[in-house]
Amino acid sequence: MKGIILEEHGPAESLQWKTNLPSKALSPDEVRVEVHYCALNHLDLWLRKGGTGDKLTLPRIPGSDVAGKVVEVGEAVAHLSVGASVVLYPGQGCGHCSSCSEGRDTLCSQFQIMGYHTDGGYAQHVTVKAENAIPISVESLREWSAVPVSYVTAWNALVTKAKLSVNDTVAIWGAAGGLGYAALSIAEGIGAKVIAIVGTDDKEEFLRKQGFTGDVLTRSDNVEQEIKKLTDRRGVDVVLDHVGKSTWNSSLRMLKKGGRLAFCGITTGAVVEMDLRYIFGKQLEIYGSWMGDRRDFYQVVNFLSKKERYPYIYREFPLEAAAEAQEVLESGQHVGKLILKNSLIGGEF
Ligand SMILES: [Zn+2]
Repeated sequence: MKGIILEEHGPAESLQWKTNLPSKALSPDEVRVEVHYCALNHLDLWLRKGGTGDKLTLPRIPGSDVAGKVVEVGEAVAHLSVGASVVLYPGQGCGHCSSCSEGRDTLCSQFQIMGYHTDGGYAQHVTVKAENAIPISVESLREWSAVPVSYVTAWNALVTKAKLSVNDTVAIWGAAGGLGYAALSIAEGIGAKVIAIVGTDDKEEFLRKQGFTGDVLTRSDNVEQEIKKLTDRRGVDVVLDHVGKSTWNSSLRMLKKGGRLAFCGITTGAVVEMDLRYIFGKQLEIYGSWMGDRRDFYQVVNFLSKKERYPYIYREFPLEAAAEAQEVLESGQHVGKLILKNSLIGGEF
């Protein structure tokens, strides 16, 4: 099998293209999926650089966002057949602890993410538990590949945890990026009033081109002041923050009394100094999301199938150019998602 492997943590060049990667034997409850497209996530960068404090083992094939076709089915699998178009839920719990039994896979002590803890989609094929391969009726595998991590995380944060409703005003940091744009699509689909916060004017232009008609603030604006103006000085009901260090305190200040902070990323750093009075004084609720659970993923697939609000693909790279793609992701100049295309469809396992 051909694909990209990471043998040592380090710079983008650590991602090596190999033509002789071993193919895993299929267990009875697994399917082999031919990767058509695999999207990039910040998680891929964390893996390459050594993780966020998780126990990682190398070598590893990265890639958590996969859409493709089933090419081999384990003997115990009845609900999928060869040729089915699928999108993959990238998480896997133990399946039998109390958290897994309640559908809270991400709380399982053995929770693992494909492409991070186990081999993923930067390759011709990936082997997964059949329960993680969700059939999709539409053929837009390209767009579906960019869904899993960003949409399931945004859904878990905004919908499952922060209970976003049509009555809410939500501020979304980095609303033109992969996760932020997923959050914006979900919030608009639910009918909430969205205030999008982006880094630069061209990212505002991107949102307008995508048909977004709500308020957009750029980082050059005094974001907290502008939020006050837009909300009659009350503040917003919900903030979606995945930026971390550089935005955390602003997020606390821009929430109204009783507001909810949906928090799911630390792109700019993990350690902050904060004024704790905001939390108890305003009775804020703070929710943390580490990806999302299987039940969230089913809801996302349903939501996208009905609303047809697919991710925006900024640029497509051949699988072999994963290192270049990761450098573009790291630069932060893009909007939407970056994806890798497997041009070796029909290759040997
Ligand atoms: Zn478990």
